[in-house]
Amino acid sequence: MKYRSTVGKSPEVSLEEAVVKGLAPDNGLYMPLSFPTLPKEFFDRLPEMSLPEMASEIASALFGEDIEKDALEKLTKETLNFPIPLVKVNDDIYSLELFHGPTLAFKDVGARFMARLLGYFNRDNTDRLVNVLVATSGDTGSAVANGFLGVDGVRVFVLYPKGKVSRIQEAQFTTLGKNINALEIEGNFDDCQALVKKAFLDEELNQKMMLTSANSINVARFLPQMFYYFHAYAQAVKAGAKPDEVVLCVPSGNFGNITAGLIAKRMGLPIKRFIAANNANDIFLNYLNTGTYSPKKSVQTIANAMDVGDPSNFVRILDLYDNSHEAISAEISGTSYSDAEISETLKTTFDKDGYLLDPHGAVAYRALASMLKPQETGIFLETAHPAKFKETVEKIIEKEVEVPERLNDFLKNEKKTSPLPADFETFKKHLLNSI
Ligand SMILES: *Cc1c(COP(=O)(O)O)cnc(C)c1O
Repeated sequence: MKYRSTVGKSPEVSLEEAVVKGLAPDNGLYMPLSFPTLPKEFFDRLPEMSLPEMASEIASALFGEDIEKDALEKLTKETLNFPIPLVKVNDDIYSLELFHGPTLAFKDVGARFMARLLGYFNRDNTDRLVNVLVATSGDTGSAVANGFLGVDGVRVFVLYPKGKVSRIQEAQFTTLGKNINALEIEGNFDDCQALVKKAFLDEELNQKMMLTSANSINVARFLPQMFYYFHAYAQAVKAGAKPDEVVLCVPSGNFGNITAGLIAKRMGLPIKRFIAANNANDIFLNYLNTGTYSPKKSVQTIANAMDVGDPSNFVRILDLYDNSHEAISAEISGTSYSDAEISETLKTTFDKDGYLLDPHGAVAYRALASMLKPQETGIFLETAHPAKFKETVEKIIEKEVEVPERLNDFLKNEKKTSPLPADFETFKKHLLNSI
């Protein structure tokens, strides 16, 4: 399968090149040239298949020309070595719990797949060293660092804003060592992001080092997220949902997760419709209402992994629907909730249904609870474990939240980090010195 740029002004590339480059040279995002539809026979077997089994078949349809069958199967199985259960919250609403992986957030899936894919591409190329640069406000850094830990031929630099990530988040990428380097930047998240963007454009750096991104602009991060949409659908139908009445609701920030779901539908998964649930950052909802996309400066909310004012994967959605506002609005609806509404939902769902949401999942649950029609079954993606937002959640429910042991384990190890000013020349020198 070849990959093309959404801008359309650069050549088609192989999967390997799309993954290693991250962004196309014309600044577009890579998309698969076509979407293979899975045969009816696959959907007939879907209810009986395990998640790794169905993922291997989906991966084979998409990446089968680029990776040997056995290697791809191994890679998919290793990625999905934790459960992703579908849990009933109440009558017709289910939670897809994506937080049972190593860093307790859905980003584990994409990060683990991408790391293993880069490892595969490096298998015969022992001198090649790929440097992954990632700016994080918390969750991305931990998933990428843990996903890439110990992968041959890959080094990770995590840039994070000093004093602005929680202690537990920081511990998840500063205590690993090996091929993971944590850079503590004297600035905010935007400063970290700006340093990374500048590095990708710097000619000298790119001549001397191979640089790539592990954000959801990378096809190897966002495409594998489609696996669990098939799994969620199959589980819901097994639990009694009408096969053509399943609605998926996705708490969205950069819109990588929901885009993977839209592509799953293109490949034949009969999801009825999608809801993109947002916090106060309502750029997508505004687009649906007006037909105009106007990025804004992001505002801070309690669902902070979704505080995005210019979602990077929006261009992929436009691309999927040939820029048709009508087609997009027919398939996806939007909502936006304030912090007060998110808190209220989190508290009532806990008190009434005995289900503890995290702030991101709460946004999505609320959207389903208010927008689901009779006959429909709603699934929302619960993207992180509530303990990752312990202080926020405890304040809302007025009870203690238990922290899973593997999250606490990170705190036991020594923190290693390189403090740097938010200055590009100093950052560049640091990277060059590391060669
Ligand atoms: C990253 C993240 C999101 C947003 O996902 P996108 O793919 O960027 O839309 C939602 N919830 C949590 C917990 C996240 O970490």
